[in-house]
Amino acid sequence: MRRSLVAGNAKMNLDRARLTALLAAVAGDLARTPPACDVAYCPPFPLLPAGRSAVEGTGILLGAQNLHERASGAFTGEVSAAMLVEAGCRLVIVGHSERRALFGETDTRVRAKAAAALEAGLVPIVCVGETGAERERGETEAVLSRQIRGSLEGLPVRDGGALVVAYEPVWAIGTGKTATPAEAQDAHAHLRRQAAAVLGGPVAEALRILYGGSVKPDNAADLLGRPDLDGALVGGASLDAGSFLGILRAVPASRAG
Ligand code: PEP
Repeated sequence: MRRSLVAGNAKMNLDRARLTALLAAVAGDLARTPPACDVAYCPPFPLLPAGRSAVEGTGILLGAQNLHERASGAFTGEVSAAMLVEAGCRLVIVGHSERRALFGETDTRVRAKAAAALEAGLVPIVCVGETGAERERGETEAVLSRQIRGSLEGLPVRDGGALVVAYEPVWAIGTGKTATPAEAQDAHAHLRRQAAAVLGGPVAEALRILYGGSVKPDNAADLLGRPDLDGALVGGASLDAGSFLGILRAVPASRAG
């Protein structure tokens, strides 16, 4: 049984005071009633120290939104895996569609970043997802196969818990449109089959595949009740403690792992 994970992605939002207040509210609620899932939060780089203090002793895992694949060197503005570990991160988002679309990240680059994260002991959350045009052309499965194989092939993963995949249909991110639970389940099952081909059956079976794309408290229960949906990567709704908690609380108790 895979324990669900709900991870917040603050993107380039919040400031120190808002992040601290948000995490204090979430942690306070989780202390009163433990969640049926693992919980992670990924602030922008400069807010990692504040995030680290806020999650200390709460069980909330600290994550980052990106990293560079090299260990060190002349890469102005970049951050290495070891730096994230030192900052208290346990996870890192890799290949978010905004990184792919706005910063030109390819599957090869995403794979190199995931490898760097694994090497440093960070859990990479590897994002994949088709655009609206690709879905309309009936290319969803082909795009997901190409992305998952290109992003994971050859990674030294022997334990499904070392890695997380996030299915984030680009047309659903920040748009208010959500994949139906059936569409999401089909995509997740496809991704798990592809992961099995690349990483082996036992790893794919233990792998958590999160759904991301306009997840809200009112659609979370339907989505997160599907068999291959192992949690959520949450953007907009993670900026508000009440809505983030609403999503955490929608994870069925049977998914507690
Ligand atoms: C995301 O950016 O990872 C995301 C899922 O955003 P939103 O929840 O706002 O669609």
